[in-house]
Amino acid sequence: MRSIAVMNQKGGVGKTTTVVNVGAALAESGLRVCVIDLDPQAHATLHLGSDLRPEQPSIYHVLTGQHRLEEARRQVADNLWVVGSSLDLAAAETELASVAGREAILRDKLGEDSQTFDYLLIDCPPSLGILTLNALVAVGEVFIPLQPHFLALHGLSKLLETIGRVAARLNPRLKLGGVVLCMYDANTRLAAEVSQDVVEFFQAARGQSTPWAEATVFQTRIRRNIRLAEAPSFGQSIFQYARSSNGAEDYRELAAEIRTGSGR
Ligand code: ADP
Ligand code: MG
Repeated sequence: MRSIAVMNQKGGVGKTTTVVNVGAALAESGLRVCVIDLDPQAHATLHLGSDLRPEQPSIYHVLTGQHRLEEARRQVADNLWVVGSSLDLAAAETELASVAGREAILRDKLGEDSQTFDYLLIDCPPSLGILTLNALVAVGEVFIPLQPHFLALHGLSKLLETIGRVAARLNPRLKLGGVVLCMYDANTRLAAEVSQDVVEFFQAARGQSTPWAEATVFQTRIRRNIRLAEAPSFGQSIFQYARSSNGAEDYRELAAEIRTGSGR
């Protein structure tokens, strides 16, 4: 199983859109995919059409030991499952603060999981707290979505530092797998220039002994596309909502790139 946390402490960069639509694309290609929504805002849960009622088991109940993963997981399409989130999860940051081994709870729960998948995708909240730490300890790879505007690289060093610290202390197999350029405005010079800066930044890091030394900037750019912004309110992936949109084309291509590992 490949396990991937999609993280960036900035909100609105494309994490949830990427998790949902890459997950849906991989599932459509016949792979078994489990999405875990670790954001109390529950956008991935809603986007996947799985609106949890408060009494239903969610990832909150899994992390606090009240339910097993399989009890909180629901199938939302062929080959596609979600472990949903709800606002309760916001309390987990403080509730888990005093628990010994609090960073490794999700890893341990995954270890006890009875089901296997080809891909596990984790949607992280826009912070670097306990929830994101749990994702980083549980996975093998991190993907970072970036929006190519002039502050794109701002905050990246903090993010990489966090990945480095987790890799050194808690999860030695952790690697930055790739950077996804999201909401790309193909017609602007700024997008092209910032993208080039991002590519050069990671090229310069090659060969160092860091978890991002082999990171790829995915060739596929996710263009800004209104259909991608509309799909969540219908509880549909871009492939259900607008199969022939640019958004569907880009996410299908990104999923293919992820699957073949090309560029790595
Ligand atoms: P995050 O999870 O990082 O906060 P989201 O994936 O929720 O970011 O994206 C932020 C907003 O931008 C959402 O309203 C989403 O629908 C929209 N969005 C994401 N990607 C695109 C895109 N490529 N084109 C247009 N809108 C997008
Ligand atoms: Mg999100």
